[in-house]
Amino acid sequence: MFKEPAWRFFPLTPAAQTGSLWAMRTYTLDDLRNWPTATRDLSNPARLAVIGDPVAHSRSPQMHNPALRAAGIDGEYVRLHLQPEELEEGIALMKAADFIGFNATIPHKGAVFAAVDGMSETARRIGAVNTVAIRDGVLVGHNTDAPGWKEAVREAFSADLAGLRVMVVGAGGGAGRAAAVQCAMDRCERLVLANRTVEKAHALAAELRDAIGDAGRLAVIPWEEGAMERELDGIDLIVNATSMGMKEGDAEAVPQRLIQPHHLVYDMVYAPARTRLMAAAEERGAKAENGLGMLLWQGALAFEFWFRREAPLVAMREGLLGS
Ligand code: NAP
Repeated sequence: MFKEPAWRFFPLTPAAQTGSLWAMRTYTLDDLRNWPTATRDLSNPARLAVIGDPVAHSRSPQMHNPALRAAGIDGEYVRLHLQPEELEEGIALMKAADFIGFNATIPHKGAVFAAVDGMSETARRIGAVNTVAIRDGVLVGHNTDAPGWKEAVREAFSADLAGLRVMVVGAGGGAGRAAAVQCAMDRCERLVLANRTVEKAHALAAELRDAIGDAGRLAVIPWEEGAMERELDGIDLIVNATSMGMKEGDAEAVPQRLIQPHHLVYDMVYAPARTRLMAAAEERGAKAENGLGMLLWQGALAFEFWFRREAPLVAMREGLLGS
């Protein structure tokens, strides 16, 4: 039975309205070199960060700081702008500053994969690390994007991947890859990979053939209306893992006329909250959800990886919603 999350249309509170330093500030490598001085105005030591280039847009502090407060942990989670050539020094400085861990976003997920001392099976299969725990100076990598997306789908549609026929649109990027690997690990009923650069989808399919168990369940198509149309009758879950829908005037990731009432549509895009694809899907009578749940759940799983305890999900959700 489909259960509609009550929170999905809530606006996110702009950082400036919260008044919190962590909500507004983005730190740099120079700050990291003088960490106690740079962070002296924070009420707790900054020992967690999201690193990226750019990173100022990241909403992770809005969910992780309320989680730390709710769990009674003394620590702040901050944004850290590191360029690719700054990554190695940045990681060494975080270690020296006694960080608990960090999240990595674009463009660092691949480089961090290569930099960690060990990693989870999920991270190894996805080939990217978005979460690192620093345990006694050892970097342990994990990927919470894929299991986070799976939880978000379960919450949005009360559905398990194992029973679904899935089309991943944008299977050439990191997020599409994470979704496809999760589908294969869960041995979903059918997995169709669609991508503009179709060679990337073929390469991914070749990697997933063993994991999915039965190569007949796997198909690759170009990102073309006709090819999608031929598949969509037999698809339950459509996933938009392209960045289309974020900008005014973007092309449709999936042409609206192809969406049917039986489809579940998961758009990884979460800004605007009611994405263009969601609106198009709902007009066609389909159920649709934005990517905010994926953001929440990957954060919750990261919290659990760092602290080995259940994440305070309510605080994290409220933090994201700005309430
Ligand atoms: P990425 O690595 O840059 O991949 C982008 C994908 O979109 C590729 O498959 C690319 O196709 C396709 N694409 C881009 N522009 C296109 C266009 N104009 N026409 C057709 N295909 C196009 O990006 P990513 O990191 O995977 O992120 C993808 C999306 O997921 C973004 O919107 C991101 O914000 C979202 N995301 C959300 C969450 C969340 O927590 N909700 C987490 C991660 C990512 P080619 O291979 O042909 O280039």
